[in-house]
Amino acid sequence: MENIPLWYGLLLFFALGACVGSFYNVIVYRMPRGISLINPPSHCPLCKKRIPIYYNLPIVGWLWLRGKSACCKQPISVIYPIGESLCGLLGSLALLAANWGVDWSAPVANWVDSLALFWLLLGIYPVCAVDFKYKLIPDSISVGGIVVGLVLSMFPGDITPFQSLIGAACAGGGLYLLGYAASKLLKKEAMGFGDVKLLAGYGALMGLDCAVVTLILAAFFGILIMIPWAKIAERKGKGDGSGQIPFGPFLAVSAPVVYLWGQTLLDLYAKFVFGE
Ligand SMILES: [Zn+2]
Repeated sequence: MENIPLWYGLLLFFALGACVGSFYNVIVYRMPRGISLINPPSHCPLCKKRIPIYYNLPIVGWLWLRGKSACCKQPISVIYPIGESLCGLLGSLALLAANWGVDWSAPVANWVDSLALFWLLLGIYPVCAVDFKYKLIPDSISVGGIVVGLVLSMFPGDITPFQSLIGAACAGGGLYLLGYAASKLLKKEAMGFGDVKLLAGYGALMGLDCAVVTLILAAFFGILIMIPWAKIAERKGKGDGSGQIPFGPFLAVSAPVVYLWGQTLLDLYAKFVFGE
């Protein structure tokens, strides 16, 4: 891992991202249909024939088959390779952002931040898709984030395992208490437990201070979107709260921003408040 040049790392992270994208394609197809993610193995939805693993390679498989299934020559939507390519680009972006300014041929030095950003950037899509549709956040992302954060903290980087643990506990616990207080005040559920676990994951990945900044930024984005959204819902005669938008996507979008520019944001804020 010490001698991998940046250009090669970018290819590696692109491939990794594309594989994640390919997995998302499987989830999006199977979950609403109630099919298990691993069994049965991948098969053609039209003629039910099994698809050999080499045709399942992200992007390459689709190009190889020129967009038609090998078994029954039916067109395969171009959405699949496009989604995989986008995820691949996000993967490369994670590595590039974490190693910004490094020469193409110089070895990648910052694997911990690269992997953390990879996790954060590729987590945006599932959080948005599932939270908008089902009003919940997948545990694989929220609880998974806690696990990934704790594991990454064991390698030399920005935060220690102790800071990671405190980050998870205090960010999650704090948001839980906040939600609890708001529920009592508003006399209705104000914060889902999914959001609590998600923020706990961000606390484990970035430490408590950055998790707090993430929460504030998400609330800021949320208010910016929520006001016009509520107005539109009202005009459509849906002022009963059914136009309520989930909070998870705002957290998910804010997290990588804070991971990269958290300190800059804090400095700007200090300048704004204290005028120095
Ligand atoms: Zn077929």
